Amino acid sequence: MTTAVVVGSGPNGLAAAVTLARAGVRVTVLEAADVAGGGTRSSELTLPGVVHDECSGFHPLAVDTAFSRDVDLAAYGLRWRWPEVQYSHPLDGRRGAASLRSVEDTAAGLGADGRRWSAVFGPLTRRFDQITADFLRPMIHVPAHPLALARFGVLSSLPASLLAAGWRTPEGKALFAGVAAHAMRPLSSPMSSAIGVALGTAAHAYGWPVAEGGSAAISRAMVAALEGAGGKVVTGSRVRSLAELDDPDIVMLDTTPAAAVSLVGDRMPDRVRRPLSRYRHGPGVFKVDFAIDGDVPWLHEDSRRAGTVHVGGTLAQIAEAEHAVSRGTMPERPFVLVGQQYLADPSRSQDGRHPLYAYAHVPAGYTGDATASIESQIERFAPGFKERILARHVRSVAQMEEHNPNYVGGDVVTGANSPRQLVFRPRAALNPYALGVPGVYLCSAATPPGAGAHGMCGYNAAKAALALLR
Ligand SMILES: Cc1cc2nc3c(=O)[nH]c(=O)nc-3n(C[C@H](O)[C@H](O)[C@H](O)COP(=O)(O)OP(=O)(O)OC[C@H]3O[C@@H](n4cnc5c(N)ncnc54)[C@H](O)[C@@H]3O)c2cc1C
Repeated sequence: MTTAVVVGSGPNGLAAAVTLARAGVRVTVLEAADVAGGGTRSSELTLPGVVHDECSGFHPLAVDTAFSRDVDLAAYGLRWRWPEVQYSHPLDGRRGAASLRSVEDTAAGLGADGRRWSAVFGPLTRRFDQITADFLRPMIHVPAHPLALARFGVLSSLPASLLAAGWRTPEGKALFAGVAAHAMRPLSSPMSSAIGVALGTAAHAYGWPVAEGGSAAISRAMVAALEGAGGKVVTGSRVRSLAELDDPDIVMLDTTPAAAVSLVGDRMPDRVRRPLSRYRHGPGVFKVDFAIDGDVPWLHEDSRRAGTVHVGGTLAQIAEAEHAVSRGTMPERPFVLVGQQYLADPSRSQDGRHPLYAYAHVPAGYTGDATASIESQIERFAPGFKERILARHVRSVAQMEEHNPNYVGGDVVTGANSPRQLVFRPRAALNPYALGVPGVYLCSAATPPGAGAHGMCGYNAAKAALALLR
């Protein structure tokens, strides 16, 4: 029987494991942490009964993929829950903007900018299933839907500030700036629109759902699917070299490229080692989870119903903060992403005490404490917020990396979203998962299609391994 070892149990490691196990391979997943799940873990970080997502919170790109169509995680207990407003963007005063499931309803709320919102996101939303079929895989391939992909590609190639310049109101500009900031790139840099265009379209096509009970439900369902196919996960087991393994036929590494270089050692050919050693990580995040008494008193009404709230002010203010972070300077008013998962999934709250998730973009390796900046940014748009804090759990950049070795310098998306790494990650190759040693693959978010708890990197890597077995 063919055997496989998967190093790391993040969503990509688990997706690879499930895909291999269902193809008849005997799979063991070795996980360094005491709990499986990597970026999809949830815990009572603050108060008993209040459940926080430790990393990933919202899953627009996990709802409908080749992996989700192959493996029905609902059969293993996964339930998606959608907020009323997918994401919102408060501005000073009571102003702000909101993205809803429908492009038309979103446009209606944007006044003078509604038409342009529809013109950008309407056509992409109608063909998003075709677009994802092409972009949730390595870039070097003959596109199945070239026209749809071309439109997506042209918009994605623009600097976010240039695309945002097409909107006339502060609300329209800010709504796009907030979603574009997920790229953690200066908004003036080439291709800084790419993540915003993808996530903005996904909000209309699939919504930004949360997993009922916490994101850990995603990894629980994947572990159950793996066990159902005869595989297993061993936690508390850090792998330091492939030589420790029992010579399996397939090895999948759910690690950073640098860790893969170290794990594979001398067996990795130079043509692979060199580009992997040049792979770059992006800025960090500093995260604070709050238990709050009641809801956040946002002045902007729609933000009271939003799963995600992008906090950072106007396009210009967000552009300045992201630029500073990319230069290694901590801004006074950082971009903060606030998650109100409990609005879609009330099972995470206890007696009116709710989990509130917040992280700031900070420079790579930032050693300071961003707690006060995060609280001030929220207070700016929700006066009275601080009085509602019952408890907080802080995870600094260093603690982030301790929590998960893949988060180098606090980079939670496993690699900078530079143009080169958006297109070719971790290196330019027909099979970017292959590590140049027969049977050994990289399957983490450092491979296509990149970050997110969608499992598509692992799924693609496993398919590549199975194809070469035959
Ligand atoms: C604060 C935060 C917010 C986020 N928000 C979102 C979001 O809303 N939506 C979204 O889709 N994504 C989000 N992400 C990103 C998402 O979590 C990651 O992109 C995703 O988890 C990557 O999956 P992965 O399987 O590649 O690696 P990871 O999930 O990072 O898992 C890697 C696993 O491998 C283990 N490992 C590494 N090296 C070894 C070794 N040598 N031996 C054994 N085990 C090892 C690690 O312990 C870890 O468990 C967020 C991440 C963070 C931290």
